[in-house]
Amino acid sequence: MIIAKARAVDGPDKPFRSAEINRRELDSYDVLIEIKYAGICHSDIHTAHGEWGNVNYPLVPGHEIAGIVTGTGPKVTKYQVGDRVGVGCMVDSCGECENCRKGEEQYCLKGKVDTYAGVDKYGEPTQGGYSTHIVVHENFVLHIPDNITLEAAAPLLCAGITTYSPLNHWEAGPGKKVAVVGMGGLGHMAVKIAHAMGAEVTVLSQTLNKKEDGMQFGADHYYATRDPETFNTLAGYFDIILNTVSAKIDIDAYFSLLTLDGTLVNVGAPGEPLSLNVMSLISHRRSFAGSMIGGIRETQEMLDFCSKHNIVPRIEVISADQIDEAYERVLSSDVRYRFVIDISTM
Ligand code: NAP
Ligand code: ZN
Repeated sequence: MIIAKARAVDGPDKPFRSAEINRRELDSYDVLIEIKYAGICHSDIHTAHGEWGNVNYPLVPGHEIAGIVTGTGPKVTKYQVGDRVGVGCMVDSCGECENCRKGEEQYCLKGKVDTYAGVDKYGEPTQGGYSTHIVVHENFVLHIPDNITLEAAAPLLCAGITTYSPLNHWEAGPGKKVAVVGMGGLGHMAVKIAHAMGAEVTVLSQTLNKKEDGMQFGADHYYATRDPETFNTLAGYFDIILNTVSAKIDIDAYFSLLTLDGTLVNVGAPGEPLSLNVMSLISHRRSFAGSMIGGIRETQEMLDFCSKHNIVPRIEVISADQIDEAYERVLSSDVRYRFVIDISTM
C-alpha cells in the first residue's frame, strides 16, 4: 500500500482537513504519479457539497491532475519514470462496450470510474487529486506537451476537454458564430479554444466586469446578460451556444439567441433541473444538447491542440490551506479563472 497525503472533506458543510489515504500497489498496467498540481473545478464543489446526490465522506476531490511518473507496473508501455503526465475526470472504464471501443470512454455503457467519488474495479472508493500521489491504469493517463507547464496543464484535463469536445463535435470553426455563457474556469477555456478553431466568439457574462480579459482571450464581442437589451440585440444570432453556467438560468432566453438549426449545448451541471418551453426549440428547429468531458484520445488531441496554439488557462496558484477560501471565491464568481493547488504545500 502506498500512503499519500491529501486534503479531505467530511461532509457538505465541513472544511477541508489534512488526511492520509491509501493508494493501491501497482498492478501490471498501473502508473504511479507524484502529483504536482491539481485544479479546482466547480464539479468538485457540487460534489463536496452533496448537490449531485449522496457521496461517501471523507471525500478527496480533484480531477485536474498534473504530475510526474515515479513508478510503472511491469506491463506498462506508454509511460516511463520522469514523464510529465495528466489525469482527468475518469480513471477507468470497461474498455469493451460500443462507446469505449469508439474512444468515448466517458459514455461507457457499464459506467466509467470517476477519479473521485467512484468505485474502482477492485471495489475500492476512488479519491482524487488533492493529494500527493495517485495510481492510474496507463490507458487513462495523458502526456503533457513540453511547452505547457504542469500548473497550466492541470485545468486542461477537465475545463479544457469539456469545452474542446463539444466545440469540436458541433464544428465550431470559420463562419460559425459561437456564444459562451459564463466566463469562469470552463468558459474562459471555451473562448480561447473556439477562437483558435476560427469561430466568431461572443461572451455572455452576467456583467461587463471581465470584458477586457474576455477580449484578450480571443472574444470578438462581449455582452452582459443582466442587461435585457442583450437578448434583443442578439436574437437569432448564434449557431452554437455553450452554456457553462454552474447555476440554474432562464434557458428559454438563451434559446431565443439561436439561429435556424442552432444548438445550445449544456456543459454546466447545476444540481437543480432547468425548465424549458418547447416552443423555444420548435420555432426555429433548434436543438438542446449536453456533453460530458471527452474521451481519452480526444483529451490527448486537445492537449496537442493547446500546445500548438499556445493556449493555457489563466490560473491562480494557491496553497493546500486555501482550498476553502477558493471554494467561496468560485461560488461568488470571483475566480480568475482557475484555482490550482500547489501540492508541494501539502
Ligand atoms: P466556474 O468557474 O464557477 O464558472 C461558472 C460561471 O458561470 C461563473 O464564472 C459565472 O460566469 C457564471 N455563473 C455562476 N453563477 C451564475 C448565475 N447564478 N447566473 C448566471 N451565471 C452564473 O465553474 P466551472 O468550473 O467553469 O464549471 C461550470 C459548470 O460546468 C459547473 O456546473 C460544473 O459542474 C460543470 N462541469 C461540467 C462538466 C461536463 O463534463 N459537462 C465538466 C466540468 C464542469 P460570469 O461571471 O461570466 O457570469
Ligand atoms: Zn471538472
